[in-house]
Amino acid sequence: MFSTMQDVPLTVTRILNHGMRLHGSSHLTTWRGGGEPQRRSFAEVGCRAFQLANALRDELGVQGADRVATLMWNNAEHVEAYFAIPAMGAVLHTLNLRLPAEQLAWIVNHAADRVIIVDGSLIPLLAPLLPHLKTVEHVVVSGPGDRSPLEGAHARVHDYEELIADCPTTFDWPEIDERQAAAMCYTSGTTGDPKGVVYSHRSIYLHSMQVNMTQSMGLTDQDTTLIVVPQFHVNAWGLPHALFMTGVNMLMPDRFLQPAPLAEMIEAERPTHAAAVPTIWQGLLAELTAKPRDVSSLTQVTIGGSACPPALMEAFDKLGMRVCHAWGMTETSPLGTVSRPPAEVVGTEREFAYRLTQGRFPASVEARLTGPGGERLPWDGESAGELEVRGPWIAGAYYNGPDREPLRPADKFSEDGWLKTGDVGTISADGFLTLTDRAKDVIKSGGEWISSVELENALMSHPDVAEAAVVAVPDDKWGERPLATVVLKDGSTADFETLRTFLAAEGKIAKWQLPERWTVIESVPKTSVGKFDKKVLRRRYADGDLDVTRL
Ligand code: ADP
Repeated sequence: MFSTMQDVPLTVTRILNHGMRLHGSSHLTTWRGGGEPQRRSFAEVGCRAFQLANALRDELGVQGADRVATLMWNNAEHVEAYFAIPAMGAVLHTLNLRLPAEQLAWIVNHAADRVIIVDGSLIPLLAPLLPHLKTVEHVVVSGPGDRSPLEGAHARVHDYEELIADCPTTFDWPEIDERQAAAMCYTSGTTGDPKGVVYSHRSIYLHSMQVNMTQSMGLTDQDTTLIVVPQFHVNAWGLPHALFMTGVNMLMPDRFLQPAPLAEMIEAERPTHAAAVPTIWQGLLAELTAKPRDVSSLTQVTIGGSACPPALMEAFDKLGMRVCHAWGMTETSPLGTVSRPPAEVVGTEREFAYRLTQGRFPASVEARLTGPGGERLPWDGESAGELEVRGPWIAGAYYNGPDREPLRPADKFSEDGWLKTGDVGTISADGFLTLTDRAKDVIKSGGEWISSVELENALMSHPDVAEAAVVAVPDDKWGERPLATVVLKDGSTADFETLRTFLAAEGKIAKWQLPERWTVIESVPKTSVGKFDKKVLRRRYADGDLDVTRL
């Protein structure tokens, strides 16, 4: 028996039309780093998106599923592109401006982008790449910046404002199948080539509804969100789409992402909510400690991207900025879990521990844990396995060009279609996820798993240790064993024996998990997004490049 309900496609076009009409007076403010911030109502942003769509179609010939890339900061023009490009049926491709130039060129060529909208301040980044970007026919420059480095390239150069100025503020949007591609984003490719994740109109729409739920961000049009997480990083966690849907005002930092301007814009523009990775908040905390400001408006802070350190959560709580921890990845749009403690622990001493977990899965995200031998593990808060997820906004494959079968590598997708997240952790009986490691970093010792993160955190709590990274190294007897690489603080005299005893004390680390291989390094190598780059350490060990002591 079929239902009697209408079958209406869930599209980005609906979000655009709804936001600009029903929340037309909500505001999108872009920080300018001196002088008056730029202010646009949602109605204006919407109208300019209509103009941009007209310009892309009529002036630049964008049609069908052409890819239109953006190399931009968080600002109003970038949001206009977020709506115009998918609504006209084309595909928005956000480019990560922090990637090494070679990777960026690889990604543009792989996606076969036809147009790039670039922020004027990023021309020095784009210009040397442009000769290698064979599919790019047009470059649209938004905002001030010297354009001369772009001259002489094969692509035609346009000015964003001139391009849209005379275009109509109406557009006959095409009928779109909700499963059609709306936007794409490449993972940063810490292993192998970057992989393209393609979001559909439907996935963006449903994800936006989840972001808006009370159990997630739960914001209203009385709120203002400071969106620090970059628009090139998983669609700024889906916030521009979600907030346009509910009329939540947006505050965009543009390129002013340093602690001092962030503190200044919070004081001046009084956002109620903000979203960013822990490193941003660590910087802001240091800034506020050195130079206190009135940040009293900011009562809710969403933290994700890496684990939120307990000390950061505590410090923010003291400042009245309540942290909500969340987990996700490019492949999960990204909202996978949000840590809102269950009612029965609120106000008890167990509440903080719940808030520190990665959080609970929403109804649309199914989860399961797979153990070292491929077995399904129980949700008992103790059994640690690789997290696998499935749902309407979870990737089922990677992009492999328009005419080829999508990629489904066996290390990323199970045979029955679940996404293997590469994250290792436990799930409690009430559905709260606690991550202990990434699968590629976990140490597989004699059929048991040792969490490298747990060892690192324990090491870094020693007063003489500035930083520590633990990696798996081959071992004849156990398969793999942990190698502790330690950065000592200046003037420290701690030796490895002392550190090992420290780890074993008070049952911090189980005896069989204690590393027997130790080395001191100058600093822990980091990736482009500031995460520990353990493959560099593994390589240095394999090359015999580290001076290792065996206890
Ligand atoms: P990359 O895989 O290149 O780092 P992503 O931005 O997709 O790019 O990162 C997703 C990964 O970040 C997750 O798989 C997880 O390892 C980590 N991560 C995200 N949120 C959290 C969190 N709250 N706690 C711990 N790790 C997290």
